[in-house]
Amino acid sequence: MSTLERTLGLIKPDAVRAGKSREIMQLAELSGFQLLAKKTLQLSQERAEEFYAEHQGKPFFPGLVGFMTSGPLYAMVLGREDAVKSWRGLMGPTNSLTAREQQPTCLRALYGTNGTQNATHGSDSSASANREIAFFFPELQPDALEGPEATATYLQE
Ligand code: UDP
Repeated sequence: MSTLERTLGLIKPDAVRAGKSREIMQLAELSGFQLLAKKTLQLSQERAEEFYAEHQGKPFFPGLVGFMTSGPLYAMVLGREDAVKSWRGLMGPTNSLTAREQQPTCLRALYGTNGTQNATHGSDSSASANREIAFFFPELQPDALEGPEATATYLQE
Protein backbone atom coordinates (compact mmCIF):
# COMPACT_ATOMS: atom_id res chain seq x y z
CA MET A 1 0.00 0.00 0.00
CA SER A 2 1.36 3.41 -0.85
CA THR A 3 1.58 6.16 1.74
CA LEU A 4 0.88 9.76 0.95
CA GLU A 5 3.77 11.97 2.00
CA ARG A 6 3.65 15.75 2.09
CA THR A 7 6.24 18.32 1.23
CA LEU A 8 6.40 22.09 1.14
CA GLY A 9 7.00 23.57 -2.27
CA LEU A 10 7.60 27.23 -3.02
CA ILE A 11 7.37 29.02 -6.33
CA LYS A 12 9.91 31.74 -5.69
CA PRO A 13 9.49 35.42 -6.69
CA ASP A 14 11.47 35.14 -9.95
CA ALA A 15 9.15 32.49 -11.37
CA VAL A 16 6.04 34.29 -10.10
CA ARG A 17 7.25 37.53 -11.74
CA ALA A 18 7.86 35.65 -14.98
CA GLY A 19 4.25 34.43 -14.95
CA LYS A 20 5.20 30.75 -14.59
CA SER A 21 3.26 29.83 -11.45
CA ARG A 22 0.39 28.10 -13.19
CA GLU A 23 2.72 26.19 -15.50
CA ILE A 24 4.79 24.95 -12.54
CA MET A 25 1.65 23.82 -10.70
CA GLN A 26 0.47 21.99 -13.82
CA LEU A 27 3.84 20.25 -14.16
CA ALA A 28 3.63 19.26 -10.49
CA GLU A 29 0.20 17.71 -11.05
CA LEU A 30 1.35 15.96 -14.22
CA SER A 31 4.19 14.52 -12.16
CA GLY A 32 1.70 12.95 -9.79
CA PHE A 33 1.55 15.53 -7.00
CA GLN A 34 -1.72 16.53 -5.42
CA LEU A 35 -1.88 20.25 -4.76
CA LEU A 36 -3.30 19.90 -1.25
CA ALA A 37 -3.13 23.59 -0.36
CA LYS A 38 -1.72 26.74 -1.87
CA LYS A 39 -1.49 30.41 -1.04
CA THR A 40 0.29 33.45 -2.34
CA LEU A 41 2.06 35.79 0.05
CA GLN A 42 4.99 38.13 0.37
CA LEU A 43 7.67 37.39 2.98
CA SER A 44 8.95 40.13 5.27
CA GLN A 45 12.70 40.32 5.85
CA GLU A 46 12.23 38.85 9.33
CA ARG A 47 10.20 35.88 8.07
CA ALA A 48 12.63 35.20 5.21
CA GLU A 49 15.55 35.24 7.65
CA GLU A 50 13.66 32.83 9.88
CA PHE A 51 12.82 30.49 7.01
CA TYR A 52 16.47 30.32 5.91
CA ALA A 53 17.96 30.51 9.44
CA GLU A 54 20.27 27.57 8.74
CA HIS A 55 22.10 29.71 6.15
CA GLN A 56 22.56 32.76 8.39
CA GLY A 57 26.15 34.02 8.18
CA LYS A 58 26.86 32.52 4.76
CA PRO A 59 28.02 34.93 2.04
CA PHE A 60 24.90 34.41 -0.07
CA PHE A 61 22.48 34.97 2.83
CA PRO A 62 21.77 38.71 2.33
CA GLY A 63 21.21 38.20 -1.41
CA LEU A 64 18.97 35.22 -0.73
CA VAL A 65 16.83 37.18 1.75
CA GLY A 66 16.69 40.16 -0.64
CA PHE A 67 15.53 37.86 -3.43
CA MET A 68 12.95 36.03 -1.32
CA THR A 69 11.40 39.34 -0.18
CA SER A 70 11.46 40.91 -3.67
CA GLY A 71 7.88 39.99 -4.55
CA PRO A 72 5.04 37.56 -3.97
CA LEU A 73 5.63 33.83 -3.93
CA TYR A 74 3.40 30.74 -3.88
CA ALA A 75 3.55 28.26 -1.03
CA MET A 76 2.14 24.81 -1.76
CA VAL A 77 1.51 21.65 0.21
CA LEU A 78 2.27 18.84 -2.22
CA GLY A 79 1.14 15.29 -1.63
CA ARG A 80 2.47 12.19 -3.32
CA GLU A 81 4.11 8.92 -2.55
CA ASP A 82 7.71 9.78 -1.66
CA ALA A 83 6.87 13.49 -2.04
CA VAL A 84 10.01 14.99 -0.45
CA LYS A 85 12.44 13.11 -2.67
CA SER A 86 10.26 13.27 -5.78
CA TRP A 87 9.75 17.05 -5.59
CA ARG A 88 13.46 17.65 -5.09
CA GLY A 89 14.08 15.41 -8.10
CA LEU A 90 11.64 17.40 -10.21
CA MET A 91 13.28 20.69 -9.08
CA GLY A 92 16.79 19.49 -9.92
CA PRO A 93 20.13 20.93 -8.77
CA THR A 94 20.16 24.06 -6.58
CA ASN A 95 21.98 26.23 -9.12
CA SER A 96 19.88 26.81 -12.24
CA LEU A 97 22.99 27.11 -14.42
CA THR A 98 24.22 23.70 -13.26
CA ALA A 99 20.68 22.38 -13.62
CA ARG A 100 20.59 23.39 -17.29
CA GLU A 101 23.73 21.35 -17.91
CA GLN A 102 22.81 18.32 -15.85
CA GLN A 103 19.02 18.02 -16.00
CA PRO A 104 17.62 20.34 -18.70
CA THR A 105 13.98 19.44 -18.12
CA CYS A 106 13.94 20.05 -14.36
CA LEU A 107 12.06 23.02 -12.88
CA ARG A 108 15.17 24.94 -11.91
CA ALA A 109 16.65 24.53 -15.39
CA LEU A 110 13.42 25.62 -17.05
CA TYR A 111 12.42 28.52 -14.80
CA GLY A 112 15.43 29.67 -12.75
CA THR A 113 18.22 32.09 -13.55
CA ASN A 114 21.28 31.42 -11.37
CA GLY A 115 22.50 30.10 -8.02
CA THR A 116 20.16 32.25 -5.96
CA GLN A 117 17.21 32.92 -8.26
CA ASN A 118 16.26 29.32 -8.88
CA ALA A 119 12.47 29.38 -9.20
CA THR A 120 11.48 26.78 -6.62
CA HIS A 121 12.06 25.43 -3.13
CA GLY A 122 11.37 22.00 -1.70
CA SER A 123 11.80 20.61 1.82
CA ASP A 124 14.87 18.44 2.24
CA SER A 125 13.39 15.87 4.65
CA SER A 126 10.10 14.79 6.11
CA ALA A 127 10.93 16.63 9.36
CA SER A 128 11.71 19.83 7.41
CA ALA A 129 8.48 19.39 5.49
CA ASN A 130 6.42 19.30 8.69
CA ARG A 131 8.20 22.37 10.03
CA GLU A 132 7.94 24.29 6.75
CA ILE A 133 4.28 23.41 6.20
CA ALA A 134 3.55 24.74 9.70
CA PHE A 135 5.58 27.87 8.88
CA PHE A 136 3.46 28.72 5.84
CA PHE A 137 0.18 27.05 6.81
CA PRO A 138 -0.17 27.42 10.60
CA GLU A 139 -3.94 27.15 10.20
CA LEU A 140 -3.71 23.54 8.99
CA GLN A 141 -3.85 21.16 11.92
CA PRO A 142 -1.35 18.28 11.69
CA ASP A 143 -3.97 15.79 12.93
CA ALA A 144 -6.21 16.63 10.00
CA LEU A 145 -3.49 15.76 7.51
CA GLU A 146 -3.40 11.99 7.93
CA GLY A 147 -5.70 9.44 6.38
CA PRO A 148 -8.32 9.57 3.65
CA GLU A 149 -9.86 12.80 4.88
CA ALA A 150 -6.62 14.70 4.37
CA THR A 151 -7.27 15.94 0.86
CA ALA A 152 -10.79 17.07 1.66
CA THR A 153 -9.61 18.87 4.77
CA TYR A 154 -6.91 20.71 2.89
CA LEU A 155 -9.09 21.73 0.04
CA GLN A 156 -11.59 23.41 2.34
CA GLU A 157 -8.85 25.93 3.09
N1 UDP B 1 21.66 29.67 -2.41
C1 UDP B 1 22.47 30.69 -2.91
N2 UDP B 1 23.81 30.44 -3.09
C2 UDP B 1 24.38 29.26 -2.76
C3 UDP B 1 23.56 28.22 -2.24
C4 UDP B 1 22.21 28.46 -2.09
O1 UDP B 1 22.00 31.78 -3.19
O2 UDP B 1 25.60 29.09 -2.93
C5 UDP B 1 20.22 29.92 -2.24
C6 UDP B 1 19.36 29.22 -3.31
O3 UDP B 1 18.23 30.07 -3.59
C7 UDP B 1 18.91 27.97 -2.58
C8 UDP B 1 18.74 28.47 -1.14
O4 UDP B 1 19.81 29.41 -0.98
O5 UDP B 1 17.73 27.43 -3.11
C9 UDP B 1 18.85 27.40 -0.08
O6 UDP B 1 20.06 26.69 -0.26
P1 UDP B 1 20.14 25.11 -0.07
O7 UDP B 1 21.59 24.76 -0.04
O8 UDP B 1 19.29 24.73 1.11
O9 UDP B 1 19.56 24.54 -1.43
P2 UDP B 1 18.16 23.90 -1.83
O10 UDP B 1 17.72 22.99 -0.72
O11 UDP B 1 17.19 25.05 -2.05
O12 UDP B 1 18.45 23.18 -3.12
